[in-house]
Amino acid sequence: MTPLLSAQTLQDRILHHLTYTQGHDPECASRSDWRRSVSLTIRDLIVEPWLSADRAARAQRAKRVYYLSMEFLIGRILGDAIINLGLDEAMDRAFDQLGLDKREILDDEPDAALGNGGLGRLAACFMESLASLNLPAFGYGIRYEHGLFRQSFEAGQQVEQAEDWLEQGNPWEIRRADDSYLIGFKGHVRDIDGHMVWHPEEQVVARAYDMPVIGWNGAWANTLRLWAGHAATPFDLHRFNAGEHVAAAESEILARTLSRVLYPDDSSEAGKELRLKQEFFLTSAALQDILHRFLAEYDDLDLLPQKVAIQLNDTHPAIAGPELIRLLMDDHGLAFDHACDLARGVLNYTNHTLLPEALERWSTWLMGRVLPRHMQIIQMIDEDHRNTSGRPDHIAIVRDDQVHMGELAFVMAGRVNGVSALHTDLVKSTVFGDLHRLHPDRILNQTNGVTPRRWLRLANPALSGLLDDSIGPHWTADLNRLNALEPMAADAAFLDRLRAAKRANKVRLSDGMLRELGVVADPDAIFDVQVKRIHEYKRQLLNILEAIALWRRIHDDPNGDWTPRVKIFGGKAAPGYWLAKTIIHLINDVAATINNDPATSKFLQIAYPANYNVSMAERLIPAADLSEQISTAGKEASGTGNMKFTMNGALTIGTLDGANVEIREHVGAENFFLFGLRADEVGAVMATPGHARAAIEANDDLRNALQMIAEGRFSGGRPDPYFALLDRSWNDDPFLVASDFGDYFDSQRQVDRAFRDHRQWDRMAALNIARSGYFSSDRTIRGYVDDIWRIKAIAP
Ligand SMILES: *Cc1c(COP(=O)(O)O)cnc(C)c1O
Repeated sequence: MTPLLSAQTLQDRILHHLTYTQGHDPECASRSDWRRSVSLTIRDLIVEPWLSADRAARAQRAKRVYYLSMEFLIGRILGDAIINLGLDEAMDRAFDQLGLDKREILDDEPDAALGNGGLGRLAACFMESLASLNLPAFGYGIRYEHGLFRQSFEAGQQVEQAEDWLEQGNPWEIRRADDSYLIGFKGHVRDIDGHMVWHPEEQVVARAYDMPVIGWNGAWANTLRLWAGHAATPFDLHRFNAGEHVAAAESEILARTLSRVLYPDDSSEAGKELRLKQEFFLTSAALQDILHRFLAEYDDLDLLPQKVAIQLNDTHPAIAGPELIRLLMDDHGLAFDHACDLARGVLNYTNHTLLPEALERWSTWLMGRVLPRHMQIIQMIDEDHRNTSGRPDHIAIVRDDQVHMGELAFVMAGRVNGVSALHTDLVKSTVFGDLHRLHPDRILNQTNGVTPRRWLRLANPALSGLLDDSIGPHWTADLNRLNALEPMAADAAFLDRLRAAKRANKVRLSDGMLRELGVVADPDAIFDVQVKRIHEYKRQLLNILEAIALWRRIHDDPNGDWTPRVKIFGGKAAPGYWLAKTIIHLINDVAATINNDPATSKFLQIAYPANYNVSMAERLIPAADLSEQISTAGKEASGTGNMKFTMNGALTIGTLDGANVEIREHVGAENFFLFGLRADEVGAVMATPGHARAAIEANDDLRNALQMIAEGRFSGGRPDPYFALLDRSWNDDPFLVASDFGDYFDSQRQVDRAFRDHRQWDRMAALNIARSGYFSSDRTIRGYVDDIWRIKAIAP
């Protein structure tokens, strides 16, 4: 626990940093000068528990976990750090005394958007939970200069701009000039008396930048270590002096491309040499660092599995298997079998997707050229696996001239996990069916979770205050305590306060949407929210088609007894994902038409704020009444957005997909709006020729909605932007939008009816909150600790 600091002390320290660290006069300091000074003041308070955590881990010779991830979607850090240190009240007073507006200061911080979506946000929640549970851990990632692109709309279409979070410096990071490693690429391998020596043709330096991650209560902090690329050769002074000014800086520029940009591809294979190099850059730097730390404490490599657990977040760092074997064989002289056993003793792999287009593969040609030694080792791993397990050739790691990273990760992992119960079952029966039969004990489930510190306490102070008043503050560290709310779901006074808290959040969001988008959102309407990456399988198309159908019905009967609704969308499309961009365009076109229809405007509004990110999620989710989790069953591995909504008292309309299944089990079927085909029914429909056409022709609402798009009703009479989308909807529809439409539309009308019964709705919302404890990432992390990592919490 941090010593409680007085507001005065905090104020003095902020002024000290403003003056002496930043060299600014308080009279003319800008908002970001203040924000950085505040951040440095808070960082100082994290350093103490950070250093003592490391000291304790070393003193106890503790086993550590290392979380390797190409993405960490962190968001803003300052507000989260303040609440985890327990300094909210003292800081409020300090802000007041300094004449600063807290909201403005917090909002000045750029999001650390080093990730695309759920996978990266999971890594960030895990880092927070690991620290909150006093578990010794490191996160390893890449310090991208440009995180996920900023989205804006021009004429309703997505436009991408480079994101620049480091522009004003990053007060949270500490550059570690001494912690750097050489990373090689390309070149050739020489056999010197049976000893393989790799002579890379290119080399770069990976340099560490550390960010402390403070846990709840401020007792423990871990390190998020991000690697940046730098030139391995010194600046070429000779070329510079000879007048070749640009060429002299070439090696630095090339090295920096490795950590220049985050790939904005959510779930499709990025078949790019640079992407493979980035993955190896992260993995090699992390493994060299892990071995370096291990060898500083121990001298027997056989202890590795007792002291080190490594988690691979998806296959992106799956080159870790061959790289660890290479380091153990080529640098430390171990035999292949020995190195392989040790590697399998430390490595574990989390699968995040079943979508075939998202399973990473590299051509053997590319792998052999970029990482020639690793290509050899991959072949040895594959051959060894064939010899020891008798695996058939159709599940070889190397087949059809491609290296299959999923199979590589599986074969090299001690444990493989899926991220929801349904997903894990599908992993066992589909992508890794044959491997599962050969290794029946390897796959296990760890259903995802989210941290209640950020997603409840920080994002929803109104609800958090009510929870504190009702059941005390301990839910923050032990979310199952929300169970104590169950009886209050029958308590009128509690439900009134719950409604008031939700309404206050809706008013704040409504004000913002009016100001920023010109959308008039009645806080008494249903706030119906779908925020997530734009992807066909997530089916934003289903949602917007329902909006069109509803609009048409209201238009035909404008004096009907409609339940007012505001549909809110948020999300980005991958820049090369043309169809997802068409869906964005359609949503914006439909919004422009519907919002301006005077006959229906009080019943239906559509808002699509641009640039969805973590801080926007923190504003939208607490204001939601309805959470849209409508992916085609079997396609969403888990989802984590769904959990954030449930905790914040939104009811879900959803399919039996990913963690929706478990959310429904926990909150109760009567408190969840279920619709749609089940995962085991999807295949048969998909295989039926003409399934989309038949479903469209059977449903007037859907057929008319598609017809209106085809007539250009939302696009100034020119439907051509939507020809391809319409053609796909009628003739292909691989995600079964048409087949699920009728059930979805009916389910939405049930939502309309349920929402009109305030008492009943609030009761359902209260039960959703009360039963959401399972979806804390603390529970998920405990699962990894018990089943996979076998590490121990440390008393600081
Ligand atoms: C939680 C979160 C996600 C993941 O949302 P899903 O609905 O699970 O896909 C994506 N982006 C941001 C900014 C998030 O906070």
